[in-house]
Amino acid sequence: MATSILPGEAPDRPQEECAVFGVFSPTDDVARLTCFGLQALQHRGQESAGIAVGDGETVTVMKDLGLVTQIFDEGSLAALQGDVAVGHCRYATSGISDAWFSAQPHMSAIDEVMVALAHNGTLVDTEPIRERLEARGVEFRAGTDSEVACQAIGYYTRETHHLTEGIKQTMELIKGAYAMVLASPTALYAFRDPNGIRPLCLGKLPGDRGWVVSSETCGLDIVGAEFVRDVNPGEIIRINSTGISTLQALEPGPSRGCIFEYVYFARPDSVIDGQSVYQARRAMGRILAEEAPAQADLVLGVPDSGVPGALGFAEASGIEYTDGIVKNRYVGRTFIQPTQEMRQLGVRIKLNPLPSVISGKRLVVVDDSIVRGTTSKKLVEMLRAAGAAEVHLRIVSPPTAWPCFYGVDTPTQGQLIAAVKSNQEMCEYIGCDSLAFISIDGLRRAVGGANHETFCEACFTGDYIVPLPESLTDIAFIKKEK
Ligand code: SF4
Repeated sequence: MATSILPGEAPDRPQEECAVFGVFSPTDDVARLTCFGLQALQHRGQESAGIAVGDGETVTVMKDLGLVTQIFDEGSLAALQGDVAVGHCRYATSGISDAWFSAQPHMSAIDEVMVALAHNGTLVDTEPIRERLEARGVEFRAGTDSEVACQAIGYYTRETHHLTEGIKQTMELIKGAYAMVLASPTALYAFRDPNGIRPLCLGKLPGDRGWVVSSETCGLDIVGAEFVRDVNPGEIIRINSTGISTLQALEPGPSRGCIFEYVYFARPDSVIDGQSVYQARRAMGRILAEEAPAQADLVLGVPDSGVPGALGFAEASGIEYTDGIVKNRYVGRTFIQPTQEMRQLGVRIKLNPLPSVISGKRLVVVDDSIVRGTTSKKLVEMLRAAGAAEVHLRIVSPPTAWPCFYGVDTPTQGQLIAAVKSNQEMCEYIGCDSLAFISIDGLRRAVGGANHETFCEACFTGDYIVPLPESLTDIAFIKKEK
């Protein structure tokens, strides 16, 4: 979850991208299963949610701004009946975040037949595709990259009279990170970019009742589906009443799963591309303890994603682990904002330390990442105010010095503290006694069980696998002196 100490502050984490979920089952209530799947994946996006259902004749969508449980109830699910469903929860990385039109799934008409598309990721450089389609009479409403993909699939399907071919031709055009699910009236499709940047897995409902696709395995678990495999980079899977078929639509490129999924985005009970997220986080803590030891009395983790790393750090260092920071789980983005006066008085709505545990103690505090540094600074102030004798901050990711363009909302490079300050300067700004980050090699070792030869690590290294247009980098990167 994105963590800041107060709601309404500029988030001091990369913001989760989105989640997709899909079901094909002639026997189950597919909308209800999708609703459960989206609830399991809600941590990936809380701004809007939607479900589209194919009933053999057409596809009907219901979507709105808000959390899954705010949008769907018994009545709305009862109206969504059919054999195929796709769902989406969104954190806006493209388009206007609060616009209903930007909520997904997106709909496209193919010769009177509707299809619905849900996308996790960000497409790079969609403007030329949009212009080309507009010149051929295609209309756009949302202004998002996902809508471009949806309309392109509609357009190329009309041209080729074949939906799988329409998807394939669209995949040949679009660039960037995408894990997508699509519902037609009779079939479910799932496809993933050729580098496999964003996760997508396939599961099976017991008793041959049907198939499920999900951004994370925790979405399979909640509906009782058994994990079958990950969707391969560049692959299209189609599921309908005749069974499952697959097409390797694009030659897989170098595999580059997002390494940040393991650090922060994914739920700890998920397995991504063969690697348990929880075990990876514990390993990060163990490795960090070897790379950057500290003399301390207690280790604590910043809830929630810092906790497994803190357990790993305690395990490797022999320093006692403790729960020293409590998180209020019921504060969302839409929470009533505190006034400026309340902020100055130091209200602690999201995180609160336990003085009885930490007072007088030297602490190792393990967190997942530092983006702007503002939350870490407040956290350290809070811990000192609660009586901590020393605060040694340990971060289970390398310094985030580059923005992400592949489905994660990060500030521009100039706002990333690691891009503009040295380690010593960051330590002074945050006010901790020492600050250390895991090395990139250490992070790679921690996620070593994943079936990727390499990862996307661009936000740490600046090595972007999908080339970026200058229009993007000009805005996002710190200008270099010529
Ligand atoms: S740039 Fe970072 S957050 Fe974005 S996909 Fe790559 S590793 Fe993940």
